[in-house]
Amino acid sequence: MLDIKITKTTNPKVKPDESKLGFGKVFSDHMFLMDYAPDKGWYDARIVPYAPFVLDPACVVFHYAQELFEGMKAYRTAGNDIQLFRPECNGQRMQDSCDRMCIPQIPVDDYVQAVKALVEIDKDWVPHSEGASLYIRPFIIATDVGMGVHASKNYTFCIICSPSGAYYASGIDPVRIYVEDEYIRAAPGLTGFTKCGGNYAASIKAGELAEQKGFAQVLWLDGVEKKYVEEVGAMNIFFMIDGKIYTAACVGTVLPGVTRRSCIELLKDWGYEVIEGKLAIADIMKAGHEGHLDEVFGTGTAAVVSPVKELDWKGDKVDISGGKIGPVTQRLYDTMTGIQWGKLPDTKGWIVPVCKG
Ligand SMILES: *Cc1c(COP(=O)(O)O)cnc(C)c1O
Repeated sequence: MLDIKITKTTNPKVKPDESKLGFGKVFSDHMFLMDYAPDKGWYDARIVPYAPFVLDPACVVFHYAQELFEGMKAYRTAGNDIQLFRPECNGQRMQDSCDRMCIPQIPVDDYVQAVKALVEIDKDWVPHSEGASLYIRPFIIATDVGMGVHASKNYTFCIICSPSGAYYASGIDPVRIYVEDEYIRAAPGLTGFTKCGGNYAASIKAGELAEQKGFAQVLWLDGVEKKYVEEVGAMNIFFMIDGKIYTAACVGTVLPGVTRRSCIELLKDWGYEVIEGKLAIADIMKAGHEGHLDEVFGTGTAAVVSPVKELDWKGDKVDISGGKIGPVTQRLYDTMTGIQWGKLPDTKGWIVPVCKG
């Protein structure tokens, strides 16, 4: 149990117009902070007014990117309950990221307690409108001062919150995906399974180039043979071929998404065969051309479930589901969002209540 000291703002911000929220642009009144020092462990858990950091320009995080983050949401139900979706999964994943990045771990219970405490203080920032939520961004940065390449001894854990609009402002919209055949995101032994900023820094160029060509996202192939599909931008990806559902296994190069895991559980409950393993892009394109590629969708906290209408690989292109959202994708979207926003009963025990709104 953390002993969290709370200092409330005396100067609350004006809340933004809920109809113009977008994603990750405005931040709530408070933030959670906790520091780490070798002789104290994690100490001084506190909630303070949202404010800039003052950091020495020689901090390790600025030069060698020793840091990591998480991403989750708080939802407001019609009955005005504020709730989280499987926060302990994010806490566990952060521990796995910590281990790979040589950052001291935070107990999962403390992580969940910190998130709940901050969301409760800023509960008025959880949006009311359909599909909108409070995006939560926990992160840890290395704060040692010095140019040597070593694990930092000191760290800061911070959580900030950003009210965010419905991902699909004008209804769920299938996206075009560019299959990246030059750049890679991950390779065995690297950090693909962690949520670290370095993975994203390395991915920006491919994303920019794909965007210039009119694509929403990049589909990453494996880093060794560039043959097998791994994941999309900030989403895991699923392919339904002849009624069976395939997705890459989480064996080090793929981020183990909480949405991915939850969708796999639902699909299995519904009687679908879900195969986690290697799936060659050539076989997917072939299935597409021969009419066997039923549906393709991405999964992630931000969009929940995102239908794909087109894949482009080395100039070859397949259209999927006639440009519309397929029935399995729609059922997953409805079920996941139904549970998250409390419109459907939480039969899986995935919801963690925070407080009354
Ligand atoms: C966060 C993330 C995902 C999705 O994870 P969720 O827990 O479902 O939000 C997928 N891929 C990458 C690279 C990510 O960073």
